[in-house]
Amino acid sequence: MEELISTLTKEGKHPTIFGSITASGHERVVHYYDKFTGLKAIVAIHSTVLGPSLGGARMWNYTSEEEALVDVLRLSKGMTYKSAITGLDLGGGKAVIIGDAKKIKTEALLRSYGRFIETLKGIYITAADVNTDMRDMEYISKETQYVVGLPTLQGGSGDPSLVTAYGTYLGIKAATKKVYGNDSLCGKKVGVEGVGKVGASLVGHLCKEGAEVYAADISQKNLAEVTKKHPVKVVQPGEIYDLAIDIYAPCALGATINDGTIERLNCQIIGGAANNQLEDEIRHSSMLRERNIVYIPDFLISAGGVINVYTELWGEYSKELAYQRTEDIYKISLEVLKIAEEEYISTHEAAKKLAEQRIDSIQNAHLS
Ligand code: NAD
Repeated sequence: MEELISTLTKEGKHPTIFGSITASGHERVVHYYDKFTGLKAIVAIHSTVLGPSLGGARMWNYTSEEEALVDVLRLSKGMTYKSAITGLDLGGGKAVIIGDAKKIKTEALLRSYGRFIETLKGIYITAADVNTDMRDMEYISKETQYVVGLPTLQGGSGDPSLVTAYGTYLGIKAATKKVYGNDSLCGKKVGVEGVGKVGASLVGHLCKEGAEVYAADISQKNLAEVTKKHPVKVVQPGEIYDLAIDIYAPCALGATINDGTIERLNCQIIGGAANNQLEDEIRHSSMLRERNIVYIPDFLISAGGVINVYTELWGEYSKELAYQRTEDIYKISLEVLKIAEEEYISTHEAAKKLAEQRIDSIQNAHLS
């Protein structure tokens, strides 16, 4: 990603689309415009070495087309690593739909998006993401077979958040084992930033095990819901970085691990579901290593959601199978921590190495 950003900004030159795509190593990037519905979408396919690329469709009111392109390139690359490290036979892809969901989202627009996805003939499989949900996937499924994350009543895997939260909880436990010698969270102080769909479910797992949970959110509604169910202490959003806690769990937005927050963090472990937590992957993962903060890479710890939809792809969806596969996050996290320690590298580098080894071995053996 750093290469991509520098290609986009080098010497203040205007980026070229091909320059950006080349820098990020993508296989294919497809732009789509439909004059009837006004749909503007970009699908980025980063890799299909392990299988068809899969990733959600994000609807966002980007300030420019450039910003949308950067986002879809970054997110699709992350999906390649997410699926590779967890052993899924999937590549990485992502879609962005440009516009304000509150204004543009209609059945016609979603079905137009579905027709676009169908033209890609299965090299990209779409799913829900920010501002798209199961209901939207139902509309999309009227036009394409290459969609997952449908409601359970339709044979789909439903909302992935609970499985994502379970995987996040297991990643946190693996880090706890590494730092404290056993993986019990009883009495551990955990700061959960963002108690939306994933964060609230994570709080449930943590409280059940006797952790002392601090929650921060900008939504009073979500805070009220979580405090009604669990004995959590509410803190202000910015306050969470200064709290003396064992574990910081980012479950809201990306890029919260940055120059401004790393200095302030007063925890031993970072493990949360938010995507793209490190503002600068290389720099900030090294800074965490120097500060002896054990970080479980976001693309590994939040993989429960993709594992869930992957299960839907192979015949009838099985919740048991999805949870069973998600349990692998615990042992893969331990493996990443071991590699990082043995090779004196950050956990982010170790996880990327593990994912890349799998991709390279399958590519070299021509097994895809
Ligand atoms: P969500 O929208 O349900 O929850 C996000 C929560 O964060 C909301 O309660 C929101 O109010 C809060 N928030 C926003 N800005 C904040 C801030 N500055 N400080 C504190 N709280 C803030 O989303 P979600 O589905 O729970 O996903 C959470 C994160 O996990 C996202 O980054 C998402 O991309 C990632 N993720 C989710 C899944 C999944 O299965 N839902 C899978 C993988 C990754």
